[in-house]
Amino acid sequence: MNRTYYENHRLERNAHDKEYYRKHQTEVLLQKKEYYRKNKVKRYAKMKAWYHVPIGSKCEKCGSVRNLERHHADYGKPLEVQTLCRSCHGQLHLSLKVEA
Ligand SMILES: [Zn+2]
Ligand SMILES: [Zn+2]
Repeated sequence: MNRTYYENHRLERNAHDKEYYRKHQTEVLLQKKEYYRKNKVKRYAKMKAWYHVPIGSKCEKCGSVRNLERHHADYGKPLEVQTLCRSCHGQLHLSLKVEA
């Protein structure tokens, strides 16, 4: 095999791999960043609600008075919460396909 060709090919491959990893790494980092950002917003909303919004006396869906939880329709609005029992809350999140 022509050594120069082989060398060039190897360098090309390395460059390609580097590019791939660079892109990949950026993606992973962005995902991580997004995850932490969302988590931060979520934690902040929960904390705010916990301090400032008294939980309702019953579930807004089924009227249960047990295992009540606060639900945020929008974590960007920390003070807008719904009172739901644990099972309605779980079901809601299943249908929304987002974590509680
Ligand atoms: Zn309920
Ligand atoms: Zn919720």
